[in-house]
Amino acid sequence: MTGRSRVAVVGGGLAGIAAAIACADGGADVTLFEAKRWLGGATASFEREGMTLDTGQHVFLRCCTAYRGLLDRLGVTAKTDLQPRLSIPVLAPGGRSALLRRGRLPAPLHLGAALARYPYLGTADRLRAARASFALRRLDPGDPRTDTRTFGAWLRAHGQSEASVRYLWDLFGLPALNLPAGEASLALAAKVFRTGLLERRDAADIGIPLVSLRELHGEPALAVLGRLGVDVQLGGRIRQVVAESGGVSGVLTDQGGVDVDAVIAAVPNERAGDVLPEGALADPTAPGRLGSSPIVNVHVVYGRAVTDLPFAAVVDSPVQWVFDRTRPAGLDAGQYLAISLSGADGFVDRTVEDLRAEFAPALEAVFPAARGVPIERFVVTRERAATFRQAPGTAGLRPGPRTRIPRLFVAGAWTDTGWPATMEGAVRSGLAAARHALVALGQTGPLPAEVAA
Ligand SMILES: Cc1cc2nc3c(=O)[nH]c(=O)nc-3n(C[C@H](O)[C@H](O)[C@H](O)COP(=O)(O)OP(=O)(O)OC[C@H]3O[C@@H](n4cnc5c(N)ncnc54)[C@H](O)[C@@H]3O)c2cc1C
Repeated sequence: MTGRSRVAVVGGGLAGIAAAIACADGGADVTLFEAKRWLGGATASFEREGMTLDTGQHVFLRCCTAYRGLLDRLGVTAKTDLQPRLSIPVLAPGGRSALLRRGRLPAPLHLGAALARYPYLGTADRLRAARASFALRRLDPGDPRTDTRTFGAWLRAHGQSEASVRYLWDLFGLPALNLPAGEASLALAAKVFRTGLLERRDAADIGIPLVSLRELHGEPALAVLGRLGVDVQLGGRIRQVVAESGGVSGVLTDQGGVDVDAVIAAVPNERAGDVLPEGALADPTAPGRLGSSPIVNVHVVYGRAVTDLPFAAVVDSPVQWVFDRTRPAGLDAGQYLAISLSGADGFVDRTVEDLRAEFAPALEAVFPAARGVPIERFVVTRERAATFRQAPGTAGLRPGPRTRIPRLFVAGAWTDTGWPATMEGAVRSGLAAARHALVALGQTGPLPAEVAA
């Protein structure tokens, strides 16, 4: 790079953090502007009723290599727990339970034994599910035709019963795509199931944070960026990126203009329209048309422990997935369970009382030990725009990192990463934008390792 080029990264979520680190590694003089008073974006934490709550339970998989690379870079891998071998307890009311555990055979046969023993489906459904898995493995998520239909329609066409969708496919698809199969894009579902479950035996081993998201992402990112000399402007909302005829020239803050040589806009899709200058995207309406899908978390603190499971999926119940959050929240007494509700259109507008009336008995039904144990705290958090709405037709609305304005790039989990709206997608997008920015700024030496691939 000639001299030290100035790069502004707008947005301090995982995409912006990854982009800022990579640009600094590449020798740029980086300023990161984040509208909020903390880094981490959608993965933030806050204090409520004497405990540390996250915006919502986050999990990752072993196949999330870019995200895991960021955890390493932030020095926080040991603050997560990654299963050595995929193992998911699947509970149902009345004491029923199953364990979906991977075997030692190569993919996709590693799941064969677990499926053969899965008690919530009959033999015919299990066989049909195995056949559908092989068909799913052959689908190309990048083929535009796969984005024209729903995953649910494809499953039906491949002989999957309503029970198979409910007890098997939505168990994984709903949390990964934040929409049920009947509404989700087949292309994104194919990506999730191929990369996550069907191509590598160890891909779906589940990782969970052992600390709050603030301790996992925001705080260590601030420290690492500081060591790299990145100027982090918290409370630094950008009104707009400024472009002139030759390309991007700066950003406009509430205090005035700042001149830079390149900009990476890593803001959520619903903010992109405000920040990007006219002409940046071929279709300026595309980010807004991606829409949004909510996630609701129901946080329940019991007076004493009611389960020793770190997490479980739940069927035949409104509880979709439940996680033991006692340790990450810093509680030293009782047990804190967080229910994570994806595709939560039906929950997001309900009152706390209403949700308590439904979820307190629902938890007792799957954790009989909870009966009679006092609930000390019951809190609901709602993320209305948790992800973009990952429905058919969205592939064409997700722009790649390059815009039509020279040296202006976009990043974010909603951009065209090939991944669903996840932490992995966010980090990948940030790295891709950084790679393009460094090349555009004339980086002649080797690119930083994280963006060289
Ligand atoms: C409740 C919940 C649960 C989730 N669960 C999972 C999960 O289990 N696994 C998983 O992989 N993913 C999960 N996700 C998705 C994941 O958190 C996101 O996809 C990812 O964190 C998005 O990162 P990002 O950097 O693209 O965007 P964001 O995190 O949204 O960051 C964008 C940043 O830009 C800032 N900004 C906006 N406008 C401006 C402006 N004008 N100037 C300056 N800054 C601005 C915002 O304040 C924000 O910090 C979940 C999300 C939620 C909400």
